[in-house]
Amino acid sequence: MIYASDLDRTLIYSPGAIGVPEDSPGLIPAEIVDGRTVSYISQHALDLLRELAAKIVFMPVTTRTIAQYRRINLFQETIIPDYAITSNGGNILVNGIVDKEWRAAIGRRVERDSATAEEAGNLVRSVVREEWIISERYCDDLFYTFVVYRDLLPADELTRLAEQLHELGWRVSLQGRKLYVVPEAVNKNAAIIHVRRTVHSGPMVASGDSLLDKSLLAGADYAIAPCHGEIFAEQQAGLVKLEYPFTQRSGVFAGDEILQYVQKIYNNLTAVGVGRNE
Ligand SMILES: [Mg+2]
Repeated sequence: MIYASDLDRTLIYSPGAIGVPEDSPGLIPAEIVDGRTVSYISQHALDLLRELAAKIVFMPVTTRTIAQYRRINLFQETIIPDYAITSNGGNILVNGIVDKEWRAAIGRRVERDSATAEEAGNLVRSVVREEWIISERYCDDLFYTFVVYRDLLPADELTRLAEQLHELGWRVSLQGRKLYVVPEAVNKNAAIIHVRRTVHSGPMVASGDSLLDKSLLAGADYAIAPCHGEIFAEQQAGLVKLEYPFTQRSGVFAGDEILQYVQKIYNNLTAVGVGRNE
């Protein structure tokens, strides 16, 4: 069995996203930068994850850049995954080393399927007013993140932007204050399909919270999402009918329910002899 999961706002949470006071019991630092905890995981979720990671293939699948992923102490020290997908699928790390062949293949696909980064960036800047943008970054030579004043950003402008970018072969996701603008070929599912071809890991369970995780969840045999974030918002708005469950709790402790779900699937599968990876 393989468990592929998004990280931020699914398993690990920044102080702004945990949904409880930082000194609440049951929180463990997951990422420490300059002596400051910048993301947490629930202790219970960590215990379950550690137990599962010894028996199955656990694969982080994140939109973080390679450098931002390597900064997460939890996955460098406590649980060290053999495979990790970063840069929203643009990079695959195998035992911490970047798979260069994959990166080159992604580069070719982006060139073939999407307008240039310059064109996409210009379109964003022509729709999203300068005063709504706090900062802009082009990540791992693949995609953009814009930190925006979310309250100022009109929803209909964002919808219009998403439609126009779609025609250029780019996708949009708004998570907290971060607007992601990503070429179509840079997606989590394509990277997972690639890894699964080599790992022969059997059934896949997935979890994630944002629009960038939808391909990840759709490609899995079993999936769960927390009751916060873009996927939950879509479901609440009645925009889509989704086949997978949501957690009861929002915030960092949604991680407990997510891991309990993964454990339940693992137990069910091993009961019929298909879950364990040797
Ligand atoms: Mg997320």
